[in-house]
Amino acid sequence: MITSEIIAVGSELLTPEKTDTNSLWLTEKLNEIGIEVMLKTIVGDDEPRLLETIKDALKRSDVVITTGGLGPTEDDLTRQVSAKAVGRELVFHKDLEDDMRERFRRMGREMPEINRRQAYIIEGADALPNANGSAPGLIFEENGKFLIVLPGPPRELKPMFTDLVLPRLKNLAGDFVVKRRIIGVSGMGESAIDELVAPIYTEYKDVRTSVLFNKTQVEIHLYLKAENGDDAEAVLEEMTARMAEALGIAVFTTNGETMEEVVGQMLLERGQTVSTAESCTGGLVGRRFTEVAGSSAYYMEGAITYSNEAKMRTLGVSADTLDAHGAVSSQTAEEMAAGIRERAGTNYGISTTGIAGPDGGSDEKPVGTVYIGYADANGTRSIRLNLPGDRYLVRWRASQAALDYLRRQMLKEGGRDKV
Ligand code: AMP
Ligand code: MG
Repeated sequence: MITSEIIAVGSELLTPEKTDTNSLWLTEKLNEIGIEVMLKTIVGDDEPRLLETIKDALKRSDVVITTGGLGPTEDDLTRQVSAKAVGRELVFHKDLEDDMRERFRRMGREMPEINRRQAYIIEGADALPNANGSAPGLIFEENGKFLIVLPGPPRELKPMFTDLVLPRLKNLAGDFVVKRRIIGVSGMGESAIDELVAPIYTEYKDVRTSVLFNKTQVEIHLYLKAENGDDAEAVLEEMTARMAEALGIAVFTTNGETMEEVVGQMLLERGQTVSTAESCTGGLVGRRFTEVAGSSAYYMEGAITYSNEAKMRTLGVSADTLDAHGAVSSQTAEEMAAGIRERAGTNYGISTTGIAGPDGGSDEKPVGTVYIGYADANGTRSIRLNLPGDRYLVRWRASQAALDYLRRQMLKEGGRDKV
């Protein structure tokens, strides 16, 4: 197996202001061709540390990729330091300089002399011309190891990697395919899910399985590297079917779709429509519905009714209900859902009302108490949830619960029993 590691260079990447996104992107691309990324390092613009890091990386890994530090200024060190790390000189490439001058000329500018530095490449390395910037990258190969030096700006790095690096690495990695699956599960905790699916995935030794929480849902990620794509697909298909069976209705997708895509697709297939009345989620449910292209076919209207006043005026929630049960109650949630459904003339109405925190909780209704209301032609229903997390998570989880409640009700309507 070919192993690789990534070194992101730049002091700004160590601060909260700037995130190293290049490594994530590169890891995805490398994984797709079956090259595993074993380590990522972020190094500031510091010569001794960068030198040590590149040298160590080349001892450990077959493919070492650096990003950043190729600019023309003094603080950009990767060019010189990578040459030092492999014990080679930098040599001047007249053609790279000519290209750069031409680039500047086309932008109506004279190339600053300082940019000449960027035309120096490690002796024996292949230069990688930069279609979107001045700094060329390079590939240096020695004793079966690769040092690949790429620029930092993502819009320069991505095409350079895809067009000039990936084809070479593909050859190196050999002929096989990588198949992946993401199973999305809602309304169940990570450990409860793991308990049900661990007996299944432990049977499949070649499939790398991870169960992880992702903001509003638990995801089961499957990853299989194989020589034959059809066989791999069949293995993942069988595994997915067994897990979906074990988890039942909690599985909302077996191919990585979002909850809003799944619910949208169901509405589309049935030719039905929905509207939303939101309190604690402040429009998040509507935003998620409308994030999906084509959602105008089924999403008709949304109201953000934050005050009691608005709940009465816009949705027709009764003053008596609010007085007797409060804004955060099953009665209010159901009247909200019925109100928006009637006003919008949709098949379904969905509502949220709850306490997102950090203040406003009580013993009876602590922070995280959320009611989801549902209305269809046959009447209304609601559920009460106790959602963990801070304000941000409570709101996201409430939006997920609202979408999921609609999904479950629709499945129930369609003949499925357990909701
Ligand atoms: P440099 O090649 O170090 O001059 O980087 C130029 C710019 O590219 C930086 O200012 C960042 O905005 C961006 N950049 C550098 N490294 C990364 C990285 N690892 N992830 C995302 N952006 C980066
Ligand atoms: Mg930099």
